[in-house]
Amino acid sequence: MYRRRFRSSKPAARAITVKFAGKCICCGGIIAAGSIAEYYPVGTIAGVSEGKLAHINAVNGSSVACAVELRNKQDSGLNSMAGDGLDERYEDQCRDDCGL
Ligand SMILES: [Zn+2]
Repeated sequence: MYRRRFRSSKPAARAITVKFAGKCICCGGIIAAGSIAEYYPVGTIAGVSEGKLAHINAVNGSSVACAVELRNKQDSGLNSMAGDGLDERYEDQCRDDCGL
């Protein structure tokens, strides 16, 4: 008889249509409900004790969605944290620290 052995095999990532919005484990971007994402069940990622979502191809580094998300983050990070005058702020901090 033919046996369906795959159920006892190791858990594997699979593409799903997500029912609930979640965060991509790669870029941290929101994966909206109803979109296609990769689901990583418990056991597919070492040290992770719950299922995780990721953009398609996120884990092998070729996700366009991740690239966009990370680029947006970088931009907004620069805008909110650094930007013009950062060097001067460091200079000021150094002045405060060393008392010169
Ligand atoms: Zn991602």
